[in-house]
Amino acid sequence: MEITYKGHNIKATARLLPGTDAWEPHTVVDGQRITFDPLNFRNRRFNNEQEATDYALEYGKWLIDHPTSVSADSQLTTKCEICGKATNLSFSFGGKIYYYCEQHKEELYRRVTGKTPKKPAKPKK
Ligand SMILES: [Zn+2]
Repeated sequence: MEITYKGHNIKATARLLPGTDAWEPHTVVDGQRITFDPLNFRNRRFNNEQEATDYALEYGKWLIDHPTSVSADSQLTTKCEICGKATNLSFSFGGKIYYYCEQHKEELYRRVTGKTPKKPAKPKK
């Protein structure tokens, strides 16, 4: 599915995970492939293609409504909330975007949410 939203192009598709019945959403905004962050997209799988595509589309709209998360992918102007290191990694919680470096991902997540992030399961090849 491809739409124009607020002047941006969103391409939403879904991919059947090999060896499973689960669908994984894929979002491309203005030709840029968006990687789902494992912190706000933990192990998220869908039972059918339509749901996964709808999610991919909603995620694309959300990214356009929150432009800092899109530009953060191409420019390292954001900093880890804990150590101040330049990073483009982020997660959203309660309508706010939090940035972290690889080292402080779990620590920041715990501070912000009070929870420990689950390790995303990697699909087996
Ligand atoms: Zn850090």
